[in-house]
Amino acid sequence: MVALDKVLEQLSTVIDPDLKKDIVSMGMIKDLEMNGGDLKFTLELTTPACPFNVEIEDDVRRVIGEIDEIENLDMNVTAKVMEGRSLDEDTGMQTVKNIIGVASGKGGVGKSTVSLNLALALAQSGAKVGLLDADIYGPSIPLMLGMKDGYMEVEDNKLQPATSNGIRVVSFGFFAEQSHQAAIYRGPIISGILKQFLVDTNWSDLDYLIVDLPPGTGDIPLTLAQTIPITGILVVTTPQDVASNVAVKAIGMFEKLNVPIIGVVENMSSFICPDCSSIHHVFGEGGAKNIAEQFNLPFLGEIPLNSGIMSGSDRGRPVMITSPDSAGAVAFRSSAKNIAAQCSILAARLREEQDGAAGNADQP
Ligand code: ADP
Repeated sequence: MVALDKVLEQLSTVIDPDLKKDIVSMGMIKDLEMNGGDLKFTLELTTPACPFNVEIEDDVRRVIGEIDEIENLDMNVTAKVMEGRSLDEDTGMQTVKNIIGVASGKGGVGKSTVSLNLALALAQSGAKVGLLDADIYGPSIPLMLGMKDGYMEVEDNKLQPATSNGIRVVSFGFFAEQSHQAAIYRGPIISGILKQFLVDTNWSDLDYLIVDLPPGTGDIPLTLAQTIPITGILVVTTPQDVASNVAVKAIGMFEKLNVPIIGVVENMSSFICPDCSSIHHVFGEGGAKNIAEQFNLPFLGEIPLNSGIMSGSDRGRPVMITSPDSAGAVAFRSSAKNIAAQCSILAARLREEQDGAAGNADQP
């Protein structure tokens, strides 16, 4: 019978392409059992939306196949999302593993559309997802989900999120009267409302909470960055947006606040002809990629300009739900995977920092 050490040694040759670490030292192999030539274990990926899950699984099968003594492999593949934020410092939202703020330099770039469809794509991969519509001056998520008359209940002094297509949703738009008054609210009140939405909501266990921020660099993005530990900010741009440099300003603000930036997604990046499927870069090519390069940030995806995306949002039927095989939905799914991978990278970094700090504290 082959020794377990040999199996682990062989498995540790498989490297997670995102984390650049071997799967054994990352703790991804669980419940390892050997019985004669039968080997059984669980491969626990860091996110169900891992872009490399098939590749990692194939690599594992290959390296185990190289051990002659093993006749049968019973591998159970699961995923447990890593905590991408320091929960020790956050007493209010202990059950939320990752918080992703979605920001843009200016309005109308499709930030809410991107937030919603990314949330749906992550949920469809099997993750537990919440969506907080913090665009207090123009909450559009209820409309995009066909929940115009939606409301939230309060139980035990906590807001109960509404549920739609498997995601938990909180929006200022659910408070119809207040949302009409939002434009007159000033900084401290606005910040207070956001804090309540974050902390006084019964989110239950979430792998990812997507926060759709208002455009620009006002009170809400600032409050989110300063109130609770977050995993990071996703910046949405369009090719036109790049030209006017507003995305650069938003990135600059979050960098000054020392908030990690997960990366950049370009929306409305190209037009795919519905008749012949040819791709047209109506507003030029490569702008958002250049910004990502300039700031040394990951470029996480391009979403095409697509009438299905627009009409889906306007009719309350998001493209991820109605047309999951369309070019738009495929682009959202690919971006969601890249975002989940970046969250795992940030989580692994955080874990290393915490382990390092604990190690230092143990030193005499
Ligand atoms: P923001 O949140 O940045 O203000 P929205 O998400 O509300 O922007 O989008 C503005 C408008 O652009 C909406 O009508 C939306 O349906 C449309 N839109 C967003 N992204 C796309 C896209 N990729 N293709 C076509 N229309 C889009």
